[in-house]
Amino acid sequence: MNTRPALPSRLPNVGTTIFTVMSRLANEHGALNLAQGFPDFAPPAALLERLTFHLHAGANQYPPMAGVAPLRAAIADKLQRLYGARYDSESEITVTAGATQAIFTAIAACVRPGDEVIVFAPVYDSYIPAVTLAGGRVRVVALAPPQFRPDWGAVAAAINARTRMIIVNTPHNPTGAVWMGADMAELARLTRATDIVLLGDEVYEHIIFSGRHESLARWPELRERSFVVSSFGKTYHITGWKVAYCAAPAGLSAEFRKVHQFNVFTVHHPSQLALADFMTSDPGFADGLAEFYRAKRDFFRRQMEGSRFELLPCDGTYFQMARYDHISDLPDVEFARWLTIEKGVAVIPVSAFMPDGTDHRLIRFCFAKNEATLAAAAERLRAV
Ligand code: PMP
Ligand code: GLN
Repeated sequence: MNTRPALPSRLPNVGTTIFTVMSRLANEHGALNLAQGFPDFAPPAALLERLTFHLHAGANQYPPMAGVAPLRAAIADKLQRLYGARYDSESEITVTAGATQAIFTAIAACVRPGDEVIVFAPVYDSYIPAVTLAGGRVRVVALAPPQFRPDWGAVAAAINARTRMIIVNTPHNPTGAVWMGADMAELARLTRATDIVLLGDEVYEHIIFSGRHESLARWPELRERSFVVSSFGKTYHITGWKVAYCAAPAGLSAEFRKVHQFNVFTVHHPSQLALADFMTSDPGFADGLAEFYRAKRDFFRRQMEGSRFELLPCDGTYFQMARYDHISDLPDVEFARWLTIEKGVAVIPVSAFMPDGTDHRLIRFCFAKNEATLAAAAERLRAV
């Protein structure tokens, strides 16, 4: 007799994330991995030194639930300096175990069964499962290639009395599109006189090549209704540390912390102290990130000259999208597998970001790599 309980899946349509799948495939086939977004170079030495210091100085037990005070203060200073936004570091900033957890927690704190959440597609893979687990429903607003600009008429049409939240990701993964002041003004106009909450996924806030980063924190009217999330993983080349934060007005932060305390409670203690020291001693590091990645983007684009890939514009993030229709008729998932296995360069198929599987025949390269890696990959890609 089978006594195992039947377990109807809460996420029946979800498999393993494309990032895990492509990194595994790259490892199996010894391919250069331009798929999953992570740097192949070292974090700043001074940051590593501070981590070692705090490990040995005794920061090995639970830190405070919302994060250590000096890191929250450093985050508040940064938000004030960059966006003119005043957040109270005691009650309005929470340190999280990565942006993924911050996003999940903000959604769990706000979305009830029957609520609707507006997302823009291509959409980062964690948003929809988080909404689904909270019992919410997503309304998908398409971003049209090749510019992937938001269509404010379509957003207006998607808003109704059940709309609880709109998730904004700028600079945008995977397209590299960047929202402008006019977009924020539209967002303010459409949410004014509603109870809609905004969730800003701003993990690429410092990696912007055109214009300025329009943080939800920069716009007082939007800030009042926003969870603003950023990740130290992207800013300090430490995606494996999994430390990020969520800034939100006190009322929203209080609800956020109710959930946070029961899904992670606290975040790795020595990393927080190391980040606080580094942010205070070298605030310019993050300011230099845009130029650092602009050079990498331009290097990769130059290396790709003469290839049959058609590169799309890239105004932010460390991702470069490309069309491959001069090379192959394969669907993007199959093309990405073929490129990995047969040509030795792993990439992400952009349809993985499309809830309905729409295939624009686009792939995404990650250029957060050493020049040697980018040059070696481009040499293989030019031969395709
Ligand atoms: N949002 C976006 C748009 C991302 O690209 C990523 C990861 N690269 C995350 C969230 C998750 O960040 P973290 O690794 O800090 O969880
Ligand atoms: N955000 C990273 C990317 O877009 C991947 C993170 C992950 O593997 N979940 O490549």
